[in-house]
Formats: sequence, structure tokens, C-alpha cells
Amino acid sequence: MRRANAASTILIAGGGPVGLTVAALLVADRSIAPDASVRILESRPEAVWDPDVTDARVYALSRASQQTLDSLGLWQTTLKRRASAYRRMRVWEGENPDGRASLDFASADIGEPDLGHIVEDSLLRHTLQELLARFGNARLDFGVSIESVRSTNRGTTAKLSNGETVEADLLVAADGGASRVRSLLDLPVAACDPDQAALVAHVASEFAHAETALQRFLPTGPLAFLPLTDGRSSIVWSLPRAEADRLTALPDAGFLEALQAASGNVLGRLGPISARTRFTLGTVHAQRYCAPGAVLVGDAAHSVHPLAGQGMNLGLLDAACLAAELGRARQRGDGYGDPAVLRRYERRRKGDNLTMLLAFDALDRLFRLPGSASPLRAFGLGVVDRSRVAKRFLMRRALGIDHPALRPLRRAAA
Ligand SMILES: Cc1cc2nc3c(=O)[nH]c(=O)nc-3n(C[C@H](O)[C@H](O)[C@H](O)COP(=O)(O)OP(=O)(O)OC[C@H]3O[C@@H](n4cnc5c(N)ncnc54)[C@H](O)[C@@H]3O)c2cc1C
Repeated sequence: MRRANAASTILIAGGGPVGLTVAALLVADRSIAPDASVRILESRPEAVWDPDVTDARVYALSRASQQTLDSLGLWQTTLKRRASAYRRMRVWEGENPDGRASLDFASADIGEPDLGHIVEDSLLRHTLQELLARFGNARLDFGVSIESVRSTNRGTTAKLSNGETVEADLLVAADGGASRVRSLLDLPVAACDPDQAALVAHVASEFAHAETALQRFLPTGPLAFLPLTDGRSSIVWSLPRAEADRLTALPDAGFLEALQAASGNVLGRLGPISARTRFTLGTVHAQRYCAPGAVLVGDAAHSVHPLAGQGMNLGLLDAACLAAELGRARQRGDGYGDPAVLRRYERRRKGDNLTMLLAFDALDRLFRLPGSASPLRAFGLGVVDRSRVAKRFLMRRALGIDHPALRPLRRAAA
């Protein structure tokens, strides 16, 4: 294994938010990989952000994600200006959002200004791409993917779709839930197919969203409303796939009628609605996050149900943790692809990710149990809602406050 040095190459497959954040942390933090050459391959075209259009794809980002992006100098300058803060969150089952089977979270209860921010995907990608363009040792290739990989303890050889062959000290797979690189590396996964899809769109409403994220658990899956800066809400509606297909095929009026009924009128009359996008949902967890000279991050390592809006947040914690481990490797004179370095990253992230994945999966199953389980769910929600300690714990956990993966970033920023 070659020691980390100026001739080191780190190849990142996937220029999604997680892959771009790994790259940005590596080149922007002088203590991590200031002299390594970092190359990102993204199979799609470059992300373009149009300030006059609200991207259909948005993420609810936690405080931990905000801090990671802030450590790159991107939060205050760019992202915060367009991000929509949410200060309350209401979760319920049944007809009444304020009834027995409901939970209400408020940032003021834990002395925080908000519970997170809604950020657009294209803005996040565009901002990270712009940052990377400022560093001579970072290179982004669009429309290029990896065709084959040979990885050993001495490094990785990758053949690219443009015919090139690249030798890298480390290959980072950040190519999403259906990761091709993970398959090429032959890393086993535990997967669960819940036969669900999510429909995503932005909708205007009669009542103001009042900076509140809403989530109603329905027997078919959860329906969430995330508040946007333009006054509309972004919906994430998880449904059995056949039902999602039926709703996708409806004209706007028919879709709005179904959405109105599913919303329980919590935001009054809904409409107009933007174009809808459909995502197939599935839970995947890689049993190993690393192979010789290669490592998985973000959805390539774990994709979780969107019901708690945590997939991106977990991926950004992976990015922060991997960057910190690579920084330590460089300081010790180890190689970036050293198996001990990659296993340390795996140990630090796998337990955290698995806990969250199992919790969301259990929650999804619990709420899809037949109506006879409803009194039990109402009792459980009521107990949590009345317990300030439990609610504080859940809010702090969801926000990622004081997450150990961020300590090295805080030290670097100090
Ligand atoms: C409906 C929905 C709502 C969600 N809401 C939230 C939320 O509110 N908050 C939250 O934290 N998470 C949310 N998530 C989860 C979140 O979308 C994912 O966890 C996140 O996108 C993972 O980021 P990533 O960069 O790892 O992967 P991706 O975003 O999937 O990016 C992977 C990138 O790799 C590229 N790629 C793929 N294959 C190759 C290849 N072979 N070579 C090169 N490039 C390749 C792709 O084009 C893509 O750009 C949601 C998910 C869904 C489905």
C-alpha cells in the first residue's frame, strides 16, 4: 500500500450530494488530502440550478448536515439563503392531527432555532460543483461511469465508459442505492423490497404551512408535507407501487382530489400542484462497507425509507467520517486505501446507519399493520408525546446534535 502523498489519486464514482461532499472535504480541508488528486465521475450531465424554479427534489437536512456544509463555507453564503427552516413537526395517525395518536415536536423545546432546513437537490449539487471548480486538484467528469474494477490492497484499477483506465489509491463508491460499483466489488447486501414507491411534488395550500413539517401515517404508507420558502409544501407520498402508478396516471384534478382526502384537510384546500416524480423505494444495507482499496458511502452503503427524511443526512455523516479517517491516515503516513483505515471508517458508521435503518423499517411496518393495531399505536404515540425526555432525545438524535462524526470538522474549523 502506497503512503498518502502528492501523487495519490482518489477516484469517486457518483457526483451526487454525498460523493461531491466527500470530494469537497478532501480538497478544501488542508489537513485531509490537500495534495492528492481527486477525480469524480458522474454518469448524468452537470447539475444546473435555476433560481426561478424550485427543484422538485428537496431534502430535509439536519443540523449535522448543516454543520458539514458550513465547514465548507457553503451554508451561510449560499444554501441558507434559499433553505426553508422548519421549526415544528407534527406526526399523526387517523383523522385528527391533534388527536390521541399524534406527536408534536417544537425546536423551542430543545432550545434550538429550528428542527432542520429543506434544501433543493440541484442547488446543493450546483454549490458543491462550484466549490470544487476552485481547486486545481479536483476534477469532475460528467457523463462518465465505471465499467469494471480490479481492486487490491495496492490500489484500484478502473475502466471507464469513455475508454480510459484509471489507477487510484482509493475508489469511493457514492453511486447511489443501485450502486454498480458495489456490485463490481462483489460486496454483499441485505435488501428488503417493501413494494412501495414515493410520489414527490410541490403543492400550494389554503392555510399557511407555518414552518411546520407534517406527516400523516396512512394504512398504505406515510404522506409528508415539507414547508418551502415560496409558501408551498413539498409532498413525499409513500404508497404501494400499483397505487402510486394509478395516481401518477391521473390528471392533476384527480390527483389533487386523492391528495386532499389523504391529507385530512390539514392544510385546507390544496392546489395547484407541480409535475409529479415517482421514486421506487427499497431498503438496502451493505454487509461490508469496504473492499481492498475501495469504500462505500451514502446510499451505496445504505438506502433507508424516506419516512424520517434521514438518508441524505446519514450519507453526509459518512462523508464527514470518511474524510476524517483519511486525514488521520495521511498524518500517520498510512495509505488512503489502507484496509485498517477503511475498516475504522466502517466500524464508526455501520452501527449508526444500521440502527437508523432498522428503526425506520420498523416504524414503516408498524404503521402499515391492520387497523386492529391502531389503539396500540395511539397509546405508544401518546406516551411519547407526553414524555419531554423522549421527545428531546428524538429531536436531538434526528438533528444529529453533537454527532461524534463531526468532531474532527469542528476542531478543523476552530
Ligand atoms: C422521495 C425521497 C425523499 C427523500 N427525502 C429525504 C430527506 O428529506 N432527507 C434526507 O436526508 N434524505 C432523503 N431522501 C434520501 C436521499 O435522497 C438519499 O439518501 C440521497 O440522495 C443519497 O445521496 P447519494 O449521493 O449517496 O446518492 P444519490 O443522490 O443517488 O447520487 C448518486 C449519484 O451517482 C450517480 N451514479 C449512479 N451510478 C453511477 C455510475 N455507475 N457511475 C457514475 N455515477 C453514477 C447518479 O447519477 C447520482 O448523481 C429521500 C429519498 C427519496 C426517494
